[in-house]
Formats: sequence, structure tokens, C-alpha cells
Amino acid sequence: AVELDHIHTAFGAHRVHRDISLHLPAGEIVGLVGASGSGKTTLLREMMGLEYPSRGHVRVLGEEVADTCALDCRQRRNHIGVLFQGGALFSALSVFDNIALPLRELGIDDEGLIGQLVCMRLAMVGLNAHDAMLMPAELSGGMVKRAALARALILEPELLLLDEPTSGLDPVASEDFVSLLRELHHELNFTVVMVTHDLHILRDLCDKIAVLADGRLIAFAPLIEVLKIDHPFIGEFFQNHRA
Ligand code: ATP
Repeated sequence: AVELDHIHTAFGAHRVHRDISLHLPAGEIVGLVGASGSGKTTLLREMMGLEYPSRGHVRVLGEEVADTCALDCRQRRNHIGVLFQGGALFSALSVFDNIALPLRELGIDDEGLIGQLVCMRLAMVGLNAHDAMLMPAELSGGMVKRAALARALILEPELLLLDEPTSGLDPVASEDFVSLLRELHHELNFTVVMVTHDLHILRDLCDKIAVLADGRLIAFAPLIEVLKIDHPFIGEFFQNHRA
């Protein structure tokens, strides 16, 4: 679903990615870990075409992501659901209008259809018609993430990109979110790339873990294999993130 070939990314003299190659099979859930500043978010942004590597190729859902493809990129982005840190929901829009936004941006103006699709997604993430009328500030942290996930899935994406989706959630809300994601993945079978420090997610949800260190990909394997790799970052990360 996602192919990164020899990616180099630099911001001025600051080299973030140094020759990263990674092929993510369709339908898998991949956890992306690395130290702060190792370029995890930048890699997700490159998959979306919001950022371009200095060298190398990014192919997403069979198509090259390049800065020359403005129109195609927009179309491809409709097949990518995104839940990024912080920018979860627009605070001035109700939950309903937040979830409906991608449909309206596509030019769909049949309110009956929009209502139907939004209600379906609300039910999928465990929210009801009353929740839909609330403003984001009136929701719990867990509900915000659920609503944001409903919006990310409204166009039935093939690829879902998540940046620390459980950050800020208490353990119960976090566990609920993980169960929900597991169920939805089982049902809809999208590919997931997820930045997370949560060992529980890495262990119980991810098929494979990709580890970035010093600008390189030092591991891409199931957690049990990653734990066998002798590398200072891996030792330190899993020491500090015990479940
Ligand atoms: P964190 O875990 O802290 O979120 P990360 O691994 O996601 O970090 P990125 O956010 O991808 O890291 O950033 C990687 C590096 O690139 C950082 O040093 C950051 O300051 C730098 N960087 C990212 N985007 C830009 C930009 N647009 N301009 C300049 N530098 C940038």
C-alpha cells in the first residue's frame, strides 16, 4: 500500500531521513517508533503529499507522490484517512459538521445522503445522534478521538495515518480506542500506519513495527523480532516503555 524507496529528507542542513526504504503491505497495521525528532511525523506527511523528500520516491496506493501532481494528489488524499495530533476537530463546528466536512469538501450537497453517511460512521465509532449535535469542547477526550476517527473514515479510505492517537487519553479511554480501531480494521481492512509510543498498542495491535534511529530504518518486523535486535535505541525505548 505504501512504498518508500531511498528517502532522504533534509530541512536546510538538518538531515532527518538518510536513505529510508520501507514497503508496507496492504491491510497491515504498522507502528512507527523513533526518538523525538527522528522524523516520524514528517514520514506520515510525505505519505500524504504534504511534504516531499529531498531525494527518493514515495508511492502510495500504487501512485507516485511527487510535487508535480497537485490534482492527482487531491484525489489520492481522498483515499487516505488522517488523525493527526492536536488538530483533531474544528472547534467551531459541531461533531456532525466535523464528520461531514470531507463529504462537503468533495462537493456532495445532498443533505439526506450526508446525514445517512455521518450516522453510519457515528454508529461505527459508538457515538449517537445526541453526541453529533455537541460541539467538540463538550466532549470527553475519548469522544473527541472517536469523532475524529469517524471523520477520518467517512470517505472509506484504504490507508489510515494516525499520529499518536491515544496521547492524552487515560488508560480506559485508550483501551477503548484500541478495541475500536481493532474492530474497524477487521471490518474495513484498511492499511494503518501509526506513530505511537504506547507499548500496549505496539504489542497487541500492530502487525509490524518500523523503528527509526539516526535517520535510518533500523528495524521493520513484528515486535517479537524487533525486541531481539541489539541496538541502543531499541534497548532504551523498550526499557522505558514497559506495559
Ligand atoms: P516527535 O516524536 O517529537 O513528534 P517526530 O519523530 O515526529 O518527532 P518530526 O516532527 O517528523 O519528528 O520532525 C523531524 C525533525 O525535522 C525535527 O527536528 C523537526 O524540528 C524538523 N522539521 C520538521 N518539519 C520541519 C519544517 N517544516 N521545517 C524545518 N524543520 C522541520
